[in-house]
Amino acid sequence: MSRQKNKVPKAYTKARSRQKKSPSVGDLTEGVLKGDITLLSRAITLVESTHPDDQKKSYEIIENCLLNGAQSIRVGITGVPGVGKSTFIESLGTAMTALGKKVAVLAVDPTSSLSRGSILGDKTRMPLLANDPLAFIRPSPSGDSLGGVARKTRESIVLCEAAGFDVVFIETVGVGQSETAVHSMVDFFLLLKLAGAGDELQGIKRGIMEMADAVVINKADGANLKRAMRAKSDFERALHLYPPKENRWSPKVLTCSAIENKGIAEIWKLIEDYVQLTINNSSFEKKRKSQNKYWFLQAVERLLTQGFYRNPEVKKELSEMTRKVETNEISPFRAAEELLSAYNRQLK
Ligand code: GDP
Repeated sequence: MSRQKNKVPKAYTKARSRQKKSPSVGDLTEGVLKGDITLLSRAITLVESTHPDDQKKSYEIIENCLLNGAQSIRVGITGVPGVGKSTFIESLGTAMTALGKKVAVLAVDPTSSLSRGSILGDKTRMPLLANDPLAFIRPSPSGDSLGGVARKTRESIVLCEAAGFDVVFIETVGVGQSETAVHSMVDFFLLLKLAGAGDELQGIKRGIMEMADAVVINKADGANLKRAMRAKSDFERALHLYPPKENRWSPKVLTCSAIENKGIAEIWKLIEDYVQLTINNSSFEKKRKSQNKYWFLQAVERLLTQGFYRNPEVKKELSEMTRKVETNEISPFRAAEELLSAYNRQLK
């Protein structure tokens, strides 16, 4: 029997397939709140879209989710490529799902847009979690700036929380300011390290030790065990030099073998201790509030800058001012003020 040719007009099928493809804001919100993974993924796709309509929808969904008030523990994990981030998350994550906890893995990877294809949050790197019904893994969104990539991940956290995930891991490589971005969206920040030739402290980026709530020396196994223990005491000594944190938590150093699942339970216990302490002394909530404020002000800055550079008057004046600055006809500071004056005049 020959199949009949499809005579439905193209425009109609297109509209229909689009309809089928895009559930309403209400459906998505309901799906996310019910913990429906397919609809959660669709909602995150809206968050990641640069289309203004999608963005508007994503804001609505996020606001509905925020009202839901669900809370998870947000854990940031950073470390250089090869340190064992995905092995570690797989090990810790499966230990948690074995306890019946729901685990989400997101990523901030500023390099993924350059290398075309994300390195972090890749399901093939966490095969056990990827097939675990209690786990959800989402690769790093792409974007042309770290700010954009980080914003999308931060909004995805809210959706995962609303979907009932108990823990959200956010992994990042320490490229550019990605650690700072992740630090400002998590409750607990974990720095994963390797024991090397004994100079690991020197290779640490400025500021990263202040951010860490825990330093975990991975690959503490086999011939590497001794070196790992030595690195542990080096880090402990270094951490002592930093002033105590406002939340009264003193950062800890632990060792583990992600591949042998050793030391993993202790790390989770440490995170739980931290959460308990900070909830009890109210700094957990305080940190979340100040993170909300930080992201709000970041967004204001971004929108202001975007609006400024898109302004026709600014566009016109900018090249002329640049030329004058380059040839020392005008000081850079005066040029900036004049450019802003031109912008403000146009707004009136
Ligand atoms: P990532 O790039 O930081 O995500 O690192 P991976 O998790 O992909 O690990 C890099 C390599 O280190 C892989 O070959 C892992 O098998 C190995 N690895 C990870 N954790 C351990 C560990 O605890 N011990 C040992 N010996 N190797 C590990």
